Amino acid sequence: MKLGKEIVRRLMREFKIDEDEFVSLKASRSGNPFEVLVTTIISQNTSDKNTALAIRRLKSEVKNIKPEEISKIPLGELEEILRPAGLYRQKARVIKEVASILSDGRLDSILSLPTLEEIRNALMKLPGVGPKTADVVISMTTEKRTIAIDRHIARVVRRLGIAESGGYEEIRSRLMEIFEPEDYLKAHLLLIKLGRTYCRARNPRCEDCPLKDLCRFSKATSSPA
Ligand code: SF4
Repeated sequence: MKLGKEIVRRLMREFKIDEDEFVSLKASRSGNPFEVLVTTIISQNTSDKNTALAIRRLKSEVKNIKPEEISKIPLGELEEILRPAGLYRQKARVIKEVASILSDGRLDSILSLPTLEEIRNALMKLPGVGPKTADVVISMTTEKRTIAIDRHIARVVRRLGIAESGGYEEIRSRLMEIFEPEDYLKAHLLLIKLGRTYCRARNPRCEDCPLKDLCRFSKATSSPA
């Protein structure tokens, strides 16, 4: 079996994907891509728990997370709403800017561009949107296939030995070769779960990990019998 398929198979057996643990996935259930984008910007450099709290506060303020609604909130008020997510001044400013650029259905037009690269490039021209945020939004709101790489995924795949110490684009390309396109979103979510539970930054739980026999780090650090 191909390595990517085997990894997905084992991790699917190990984990249940609970959308409460993935704020952008949960936001995608709204069918509102702008909500996914705003949620993903809020989630930068903070936990999903803090993001969920900030989103709850935002939703108690506006009926729908739409550019027009965000534009009506004074900047200082938006900062207060986003405070639990950290970097709240910067995030509030970015979200206000993004809302003013994306009014009148502009985000839908971007997400309808013909190719993945065109959509990525257009999203990455928005303030506060880098490759990870663009890939999350694309994979959660369109039929285009990409894999967003977060810090957990980068750590896990380096340890596994399937992507070397490259940057974001190198890791993404490597994972897009290893996994089947229909598994990209699943692989993204499952590798994050693996990074949060077994393959933690400190003290990875290699002994219990479902991928230990496939893992270069585990083989290199396990004591000989
Ligand atoms: S075996 Fe250890 S280092 Fe390798 S993926 Fe699992 S937890 Fe991470």
